[in-house]
This record gives sequence, structure tokens and C-alpha cells, in this order.
Amino acid sequence: MVVNARQPYDENNIFARILRGEIPCRKVHENAFALAFHDINPQADVHVLVIPKGPYVSFADFCVDAPDALVTGFFRTVADVAQELGLVESGYRLLANAGVHAHQEVPHFHVHLFGGHALGPMLV
Ligand code: ADP
Repeated sequence: MVVNARQPYDENNIFARILRGEIPCRKVHENAFALAFHDINPQADVHVLVIPKGPYVSFADFCVDAPDALVTGFFRTVADVAQELGLVESGYRLLANAGVHAHQEVPHFHVHLFGGHALGPMLV
């Protein structure tokens, strides 16, 4: 099922369960703002997901509803993860699917971080 932008937050979505430690993940980084872990179905040599610690379905929900400190802390964490994974010099790609047209499947806002090789042009 793809995510409808207006749906309420589902406390039992898979990323909520990963945040609560109910489902394992291959953790890359964790702090007060975010958790980063390897995607279970990687689309690049490096494919990491970064999720905020809070009940936000979509990018819009996160940017509108989250406290400024969480928004800032989350995006700084994305940059820190890229740095820690050694991706900054060669480059990387960030992607956030938002809603039906973007085929967002997991209803907890997340940023995909891709890298580790030349990714080629962005395809839509
Ligand atoms: P799409 O599946 O269309 O890319 P999303 O942007 O919602 O939609 O991405 C969800 C991502 O979560 C997918 O890349 C999927 O492989 C990943 N994923 C789903 N379940 C898990 C899990 N248990 N652990 C790690 N990654 C997961």
C-alpha cells in the first residue's frame, strides 16, 4: 500500500517498530533525533535509511509539525551519516518519497541515502 498524505500516523508501521527495538535493523548511527540503518533491499552499494524519532508520516508532516530542533537535528544527522560512511568526497544522493505519486510505502518519514559508486542521472 502506498501512503496517503492525509493518513494518521500508524504506531505499528515497520519503522516505528524498528525505532522501538521490536524489529532488528543493521544500525549505522543513532542519536536523540534520528536512527540510520541499512535498507533491507539495497538499490545501490550504499543504501541507508534515516528516520526521525517522532510520529511523522510524510516529509510535509515532519517539516510542519516537528519542533525546529528536531528538524535541524535530523537533517544534520543525515549529513553526519554521509560523512561517516565516507561518501562526501565522491558524492551521494538523497531521496524522500512523499505520498501516492512518489510511491511512498512506509508511513514514517524517511530519507534514502544512496552512494558508493557513480549513480548516473536521476530517473523519474
Ligand atoms: P519504496 O518501497 O517505493 O521505495 P519508500 O520510500 O517508503 O517506498 O521506501 C521504503 C524502504 O524501506 C524500501 O527501500 C524498503 O526496502 C525499505 N524497508 C522496508 N522494510 C525494511 C526493514 N525491515 N529494514 C530495512 N529497510 C526496510
